[in-house]
Amino acid sequence: DSVDIPPVNLTADHLLDGLLTAEFSYRSCRSRYEFASYHKRSSHKPSPYLLSKLRKQEALQKRCGPGTAAHKAALRRLESGEGAATGRVEDGDCRYLVSIGFRGLGNRMLAVASAFLYAVLTERVLLVHWGKGAAGLFCEPFPGATWLLPRAGKRSPLGNLDRYDGESKESLGNILQSGAVVGASADGNVSWASPRPPPYVYLHLAGGYGFHDKLFYCGEHQRLLRGVPWLLMRTDSYLVPGLFLTPPFRGELEAMFPEKDATFHHLGRYLFHPSNAVWRAVTSYHRPNLAGASRRVVGIQIRVFQKKQPPRQVLDQLLSCVRGERLLPDQVAAATNDAVLVTSLSPWYHERIRAEYGGRVAGGVHQPSHEGEQRWGDAAHDAKALAEMYLLSTCDVLVTSGFSTFGYVAQGLAGRRPWVMPRPSPWEEWAEGQAPAEPPCRRAPSVEPCFHSPSYYDCAARRDVELDKVAPYIRRCVDVSWGIQLV
Ligand code: GDP
Repeated sequence: DSVDIPPVNLTADHLLDGLLTAEFSYRSCRSRYEFASYHKRSSHKPSPYLLSKLRKQEALQKRCGPGTAAHKAALRRLESGEGAATGRVEDGDCRYLVSIGFRGLGNRMLAVASAFLYAVLTERVLLVHWGKGAAGLFCEPFPGATWLLPRAGKRSPLGNLDRYDGESKESLGNILQSGAVVGASADGNVSWASPRPPPYVYLHLAGGYGFHDKLFYCGEHQRLLRGVPWLLMRTDSYLVPGLFLTPPFRGELEAMFPEKDATFHHLGRYLFHPSNAVWRAVTSYHRPNLAGASRRVVGIQIRVFQKKQPPRQVLDQLLSCVRGERLLPDQVAAATNDAVLVTSLSPWYHERIRAEYGGRVAGGVHQPSHEGEQRWGDAAHDAKALAEMYLLSTCDVLVTSGFSTFGYVAQGLAGRRPWVMPRPSPWEEWAEGQAPAEPPCRRAPSVEPCFHSPSYYDCAARRDVELDKVAPYIRRCVDVSWGIQLV
C-alpha cells in the first residue's frame, strides 16, 4: 500500500486500450488504474484517431490551463473587456470553453462530457464549474493541468456563473437578435458587425431553449463563434447527438468514433475517475456484496421523485419486466449465483424486491443507500450518487428508469444496453389508476445517453426536419419520444 505504483504490471487493459495515459500516479487516483478490474473487458476499442485527439487536447490543456502565462493573459483580456487580441484567431492564442453545471450529478456529468467533446472539436481549453460540492468527487483527467475553473472576482464575467440564463444579453440567441451580427438571414454567411468579436459569448443550451439559441447547431454560427476567445456553456443535457448533426463537426466525429454507439462509453471512461474517497466506497461495497468469480449481478435503478409513498406501479412494472425478460430465476435455482443491486432514493423497492427474490438469488439483494430525497449542493449526497452509478456500471444486466441521466451514466460506463422502464414524464410519477406501461420495459438500442432537447431545425434547408431520417446512426430514444440517441 505504501508504494506509489499500481499493484500489477500495467497492461493495455488497465489503460482502457490507450484511452488513459499512465502519467498519473496510482496513489493520486486509484480508480484510473482499477476501473478495468471491476468491469468486463470492453468490446469497443477507441480509434487511433480518437486517441490522437485526446493526446492533443491534453497538450492544449497543459499549455493553456490555469497557472500558465497564456491563461493569465486571456483572463486579463476577458476581464478588461478587450476580447480577441486582433479580429482574427492567432495560432498561439488559447481559447476557452467554460462548462456551467446544474441539476443532478448525472445531468452535470453528461454536460461535462458534451462540453469536453465540443472543446476537442473547436480546439478550446475546457474549464469546468461543477457547482457546489461536486468538484472534489473526481480526479483531474488531464495530466499536469487542472480542469477546474479558478474562482473569479464578482465583477468578472466568470464571477457569478449562476446568473446566466436564456434572458442574458450575452447569450448567442440574444446576440443574434441584437444587431451585433450581420447577414444572419441573407446568404448564410454571418459575421460580427464590429471588427472584433465580443470577448465572450454565453451558450444557453438548457432544456426549453429557444429558436435563436438552437442556431448553435448551425455551421455558419459555429464559424462565427470560432473567433470568440471565451465561450460559457450551460447545459443539463447530453448534446453529443446534436454535435453529430452540426455540419462542420460531422466528418470529424465520424472519424473519431467509427462506432457511434460507443461515444459516451469512451468519453465517460476517459473523463470521469472517482476520487480515492469515492472509489473506496465503491470497492468496499463491491467486495463483500457483489464480487464473486461466477456471480451474475442484475442492477436495478429506480428513479422516484416523491418522498412519501413510492409509487406501487413502478414495482409492478419492474417485477413484470424482470419476469417477462427472464432476468432473474423464477424459482430457487441452485446452479445460479445471482445477486441483485438496487439503487433508489427510496428503501421500499429494495424491501419488496428482497421479499420477492431474496430466497431465489444466492448472492442476495443489496441497496447501498436510500437518501430519501434529492439534495442540492451536498457533497456527501453527491458522493453516494457517484458511487452508485459506478456500482451499477459493474453489473452484468441493467434495468433502468426512463428519462434518468443517472441511469444513462451507469449504462454508458458499463457498455451494457439496459432494459428501460418508461415513465409518464420526466417529473411525474404514475398517477393512481393510470394504465401501466405496456411493455413494462424495452431494450435500449445502444448504451448511448438520450439527448432530451435536440434542435429539429435544419439550418441549410431553413426548416424543421425529422432527425431520425438525417443519419443512419441517429434514432429516437426508447424512453423520450422527442429525444434522439446515437446507435
Ligand atoms: P436524473 O435526475 O435521474 O436525470 O439524474 P441526476 O443524477 O441528474 O439527478 C438525480 C440526483 O438524485 C442524483 O444525482 C442523486 O443526487 C439523487 N439520486 C437519484 N437516484 C438516486 C439513487 O438511486 N441513489 C442515490 N444515492 N442518489 C440518487
